[in-house]
Amino acid sequence: MIGYQNIIDNIAKAAKKNKDKGKIASYIPELASIDINKFGIHLIDADNNNFSTGDALEGFSIQSVSKVLSLAHSFGLVGNDLWKRIDVEPSGDPFNHLSLLELENGIPRNPFINAGAIVVADILVSHLKNPKKDFLNFVQKLANDKTIRYNEKVALSEKKTGFRNYAAANLLKSYGNLINDVDTVLDFYFHQCALEMNCKQLASAFFIFMNHGKCQRGKSYLNINQVKRINALMLTCGFYDEAGEFAFEVGLPGKSGVGGGIVALLPNTYCIATWSPGLNPKGNSKLGMAALEELTTRTGHSIF
Ligand code: GLN
Repeated sequence: MIGYQNIIDNIAKAAKKNKDKGKIASYIPELASIDINKFGIHLIDADNNNFSTGDALEGFSIQSVSKVLSLAHSFGLVGNDLWKRIDVEPSGDPFNHLSLLELENGIPRNPFINAGAIVVADILVSHLKNPKKDFLNFVQKLANDKTIRYNEKVALSEKKTGFRNYAAANLLKSYGNLINDVDTVLDFYFHQCALEMNCKQLASAFFIFMNHGKCQRGKSYLNINQVKRINALMLTCGFYDEAGEFAFEVGLPGKSGVGGGIVALLPNTYCIATWSPGLNPKGNSKLGMAALEELTTRTGHSIF
């Protein structure tokens, strides 16, 4: 048996001492006051054993990590029709860039850049009766935790400052790739990004991606092909213009958020969430990436 607890404890110890923790995202004002010293890891293995260290049970803003959960929900609802409106190629661009969207006539490169996630949000707004409530319910069920909530302050803070997301939504609308109105879709999108979860809840919610679509309680949410596709997208697009670097250093499918969270998984083996709020210049958690690199190096286990 691999000594996961020992490995993550050592990673956390080294991270606490590391002085170069990156920079907190301040473009969403409500995120700017988070303590940069927070650091947590939670790992769940395929037999449902849990390993936790540091601030793993403290909630934080999951931001773009939510894009995998919204993709999973919409993929389950509309199947492959999704790919008529969103491509599956890495963008090589930062998450909020718009130039490719115009060049490619309103079809976002992938579901994890903001424009792609806004189209996914549009699909959920079209298909769910009470979009925000139903999506929250879906996430609570995946994580088997009814306490998960939206942080309304974070959602409002992003609504007030989300000029680029308004630009993306308006551009999509002008190309006919947004069915509902811009404000309704962005209200949903800002809320999904403002989900507050801790590392344990995130690792639990992502369990389906390492377990052929089945959650920890055995219920099936996605089929094997859908899981394959979502994992492929996490590997190729989960870290925007740093997806190559993450695959190179860590070698796992994963997804980051500007709240400092990262979730990554090794199919059939484990699912792990890290939280360290300081970001590198590409908007990915600096110490979270380093922690995952250390984990796959120490265990010798990656998808490669
Ligand atoms: N809500 C953020 C935004 O739209 C999410 C970005 C991220 O986590 N990369 O800008």
